[in-house]
Amino acid sequence: MNNKEYEKELKQLGTFEIASKMVNSAKKNENYKGYLDAGRGNPNWINTQARLAFARFVEFGVKESELTMLEGNLAGYTTLNGIDDRLNDMLDLNKNADLFIKTLIDYTEEELGINRDTMVKELTDAVIGNNYPEPSRCLMNIEKIINDYLQETLYNDVPLSSSTQVFPTEGGTAAICYIFDSLKKNGLIDEGDRIAINTPIFTPYLQIPKLNKYDLLEVNLESQDDENWETTLKALDVLEDKSIKAFFLVNPSNPASRALDSKFLNRIKEICEKRPDLIIITDDVYGTFVQDFQTVYSVVPYNTILVYSYSKLFGCTGWRIGCIAMNEKNVFDDLIALLPEEKLKSLDEDYGIVTTEPRSLPFIERLTADSRSIGLYHTAGLSTPQQAMTALFSLTHLVCHENDKYIESANRIVSGRYQKLVNELGIKEDNTRENAKYYTLIDIYNLAERLYSKELVTYMRKNFEEISFLMNLAKEKGVVMMEGVGFSAPKGVLRVSQANLPDGAYPEIAKRIKGLLKEYNDKMNGY
Ligand SMILES: *Cc1c(COP(=O)(O)O)cnc(C)c1O
Repeated sequence: MNNKEYEKELKQLGTFEIASKMVNSAKKNENYKGYLDAGRGNPNWINTQARLAFARFVEFGVKESELTMLEGNLAGYTTLNGIDDRLNDMLDLNKNADLFIKTLIDYTEEELGINRDTMVKELTDAVIGNNYPEPSRCLMNIEKIINDYLQETLYNDVPLSSSTQVFPTEGGTAAICYIFDSLKKNGLIDEGDRIAINTPIFTPYLQIPKLNKYDLLEVNLESQDDENWETTLKALDVLEDKSIKAFFLVNPSNPASRALDSKFLNRIKEICEKRPDLIIITDDVYGTFVQDFQTVYSVVPYNTILVYSYSKLFGCTGWRIGCIAMNEKNVFDDLIALLPEEKLKSLDEDYGIVTTEPRSLPFIERLTADSRSIGLYHTAGLSTPQQAMTALFSLTHLVCHENDKYIESANRIVSGRYQKLVNELGIKEDNTRENAKYYTLIDIYNLAERLYSKELVTYMRKNFEEISFLMNLAKEKGVVMMEGVGFSAPKGVLRVSQANLPDGAYPEIAKRIKGLLKEYNDKMNGY
């Protein structure tokens, strides 16, 4: 197969699939030792505090269980009475992890009003994993902790924690799947419906609606390089159109790494006042990478489902932890109540197997039930060790009372790498608050024009598929990036992740990009 055909074939694949092919190609590059994968958003740091605390809870949980039964490797169950005292006996407050455990139990007692024994027992059992998740949707006190974390990190002081319900999920990934499924099942989005998305966007939001089982029509609210990858206020006007059922957004965005500022948030509020039936799904995975971030959920809680993932900030992609959060009062429940009687009857039949009052089953419980095909609602819910880990990560932030050094470090790491990359490329730094700096979008054609000429841009556009630069970057320079077209960015835009390579790799990546551009320029000039 010649190069052009291969390039065309690649274009059929999703962005992430192309990137993994690029990794293989980069591994084989003959010009550099090793390869640099700046494609994936997987961070190269981890939070140690919560993990060490988790390990201590495992030890404690085993000791505690052995008190009721012990035959070889078989132990019994934990007991509530005096459990906090027994935990304290084990803790050595000179150890960081142990001090953190003591501090977090103090915090949940003082700030959340949770009884110490109850808290210790819930966390210990969750870590040990000796019971089905009960309630299915979320363990009771862990829900309070997650709510408090979302409050402190995403709501920008709008008090919502006490009116918000949480469904912890297997990462943001499962949250997204569950939401699409339950919206469809409950007739809130139907085949042929129009949905709006802010593009460029994390590819699944482009791919899932197009699947045959959903068959939704996407309306892109585009943002472009010359607008700093910010969507325009004007683009939001389309949301006033009643035929748009839902608005899916990633904020701060991926791949552009930009948060919506207050003028957009105000406009969204205005739009929802005009049309209270608008459904909004906001994916705020990168929220903590923007100072004083404010989620759309805090502006229009009635209309919005919030998706959050712990993966990026805490470096825990392998744990698969994230959550869905929504308000007690929400448009989803109200729209379900308004469905045609026939549809409601059919939903009654399905949800009637898990409740005697299917019509008053809230949407968030439907999400939980649907995640296990309704029939397994009673064994639904995220595994309890995952729920415990979620709580522990949350608490690493909460016990800091705002001055969170860990979040500062994570932010400093990505912004330092961003700075190194753009400086070497000669691109102006964007230090506005809205830039999360987790990713950078590089427009290869803009760069070619800036470093060389318009003529080079015309030459590249005419003679090469837009994917060829990406392929050569891998093959010749051993650098993997992601192509933006898959995110619905304009042709020639590539995404660099600042999350997953050592700091020193970023100027090196910039150098190799410039080196490859020079090769195109030389070729044009017949060298
Ligand atoms: C990484 C990412 C996710 C996936 O999160 P997981 O918790 O790892 O499944 C979801 N949404 C966006 C926008 C992401 O960038």
